[in-house]
Amino acid sequence: MSTLRCDKCSGYYCFAGNWDESKAPENCPMLLYPEVFACARDRSLEEKVRELNVPAAMVEKEGFAKIDGKNAPCYPRIREIVEFAKKTGRTHIGLAFCKSSSSEAKMIGEIFDSFGLDVDAVLCKCGGISKNEVGIPEEYKVRGAGAFEASCNPVTQAELFNKLGTDINVLVGLCLGHDMLFIKHCDALVTTLIVKDKVTGNNPQAALYNIFAKRAYFKP
Ligand code: SF4
Repeated sequence: MSTLRCDKCSGYYCFAGNWDESKAPENCPMLLYPEVFACARDRSLEEKVRELNVPAAMVEKEGFAKIDGKNAPCYPRIREIVEFAKKTGRTHIGLAFCKSSSSEAKMIGEIFDSFGLDVDAVLCKCGGISKNEVGIPEEYKVRGAGAFEASCNPVTQAELFNKLGTDINVLVGLCLGHDMLFIKHCDALVTTLIVKDKVTGNNPQAALYNIFAKRAYFKP
């Protein structure tokens, strides 16, 4: 049963800075767990949190330009990653990419190089291990039973970066589930630059606004 439902909030009072108990919806985390907020506020002042939280806010602010007096975004996500890396002194980047995003990985690597970041990049299929060897049933091969298909290897990607001591690992188009395994096994911070979504050209938000996708994919 659901407990916390900010997604159903009609006021976003925390965002507006005018939260109080009388307005809070019954599933409001601030209402239900005040002790967690008190603890989290204290922890936000700890150096290990501040050293990431503050630069993140700085990059957010710098990523807006004023146009006609209004905030207009001027940093794409990739530039935000560069600026965050430089601000935090975390300049050794691990690029974990999917074969289907290999063209993009080349571009991303070149952009990071051009900003003076130190890049290591590992393809998802690194190791070339057959899906048979890791227990994936024959009928779940994409090209059909009997074909050679290399298994994705997210734990290897993570372990290679752990060995090299990367500072930030950047996820580029890894499959659902493989991305989770990669994140789970990384020692370094992980951020996502490209989310794999084959139907929308790696833009999962687009499916929410596409009436055809809604009809086809979202009927329970
Ligand atoms: S924390 Fe409370 S006020 Fe803020 S969005 Fe969630 S439910 Fe709404």
